[in-house]
Amino acid sequence: MGRPPIYLDYAATAPVRPEALAAMLPYFREHFGNPSSIYGLGRAARHALDDARDRCASWLGCRAADLIFTSGGTESDNLAILGVAFAARATGNHIITTAVEHHAVLHACDYLEKFGFEVTYLSVDSYGRVAPEAVAEALTERTILVSVMLANNEVGTIQPIPEIAAVLQRAPRRVWFHTDAVQAPGDLDLNVDALGIDLLSLSGHKFGGPKGIGLLYVRRGTPLQPQQFGGSQERNRRAGTENVPAIVGMATAFDLAMRERETTRTRLTRLRDQLIRGVLARIPEARLNGHPTERLANNASFSFSGVDGESLLMALDLAGIAASSGSACTSASLEPSHVLTAMGLPAEIARGSLRLTLGPTTTEDEIETVLTVLPDVVARLRASLVEA
Ligand SMILES: *Cc1c(COP(=O)(O)O)cnc(C)c1O
Repeated sequence: MGRPPIYLDYAATAPVRPEALAAMLPYFREHFGNPSSIYGLGRAARHALDDARDRCASWLGCRAADLIFTSGGTESDNLAILGVAFAARATGNHIITTAVEHHAVLHACDYLEKFGFEVTYLSVDSYGRVAPEAVAEALTERTILVSVMLANNEVGTIQPIPEIAAVLQRAPRRVWFHTDAVQAPGDLDLNVDALGIDLLSLSGHKFGGPKGIGLLYVRRGTPLQPQQFGGSQERNRRAGTENVPAIVGMATAFDLAMRERETTRTRLTRLRDQLIRGVLARIPEARLNGHPTERLANNASFSFSGVDGESLLMALDLAGIAASSGSACTSASLEPSHVLTAMGLPAEIARGSLRLTLGPTTTEDEIETVLTVLPDVVARLRASLVEA
């Protein structure tokens, strides 16, 4: 094949941005100190840590002290949900979330059910949106926590977070509100007060930082029981020596993603719509998954009847296109995606799903190539399924 591979799986992970890598390197080498040490090397690491925290806080519109650095989106989601649930259990045992959350949220909630917590999994409409009124109806006098993602990783649908926050403001008791915002940096506004949330999860590798680093915003006054024990790092909320190089890399990438947000969003929306229009026009019985307008600028998710998703991914891989069937976490299983199922897609159609997610370096030529290759691949797979 003449051309380099086309990467369209940015929702699974993104390459580390060169600026982020360059910013990290000194913290592996000359500035390798432990930020808790009092001599010069330690102070240099502490300074880098403080600076990274300040930069992240400024994009979220919060205090630096409200941020906890974690090992990624999964840990942030786990800490938010388990941390609030166990800290607030004396006042209630009911949690509300949605059927389309990432497994880092859903499986944390499953786990809590073993400890006597009750979880309501809200259903969504055919676009994957949860209604704020559904949250209002699910509230009980035992509700302590609501967790609704800002944007879905499989279908890109954006949830009405400020509207849900308004519902919780009117609730007779204080209900803490968490959002998994892992897919949002570089596209959506992340000001915690504008969103109206109390906890917010981010993951470095989804926006050009390294893997294995994330953060959790926790509004002052939110009850949070630590989930790991050791030193007094992160104000006693998350023990363990801070991953200074990764934190510096994540902060650098976050800064860039948020600075370039308007330009990236405009450019990706145009490319995404070109892709969606092309696929729907050129492939018979193609369906767009997710909301037509309330969706991430980089997400195009489709279902094709009469096609097996795994075969489609393999055929695209042979054609030099890296894509996903839904989420990277479930791509090894044969179960149709829980997100598409919750949106009411019949299993036989949900099995033929394809997620294409664009990134800052995606080009128009790459989109055109996909629009040339994909219709043939789908037609070929459909023909072979009919023969078989
Ligand atoms: C990727 C992802 C996560 C998990 O983040 P990791 O850093 O990979 O653990 C959680 N939530 C959403 C929405 C994601 O897309």
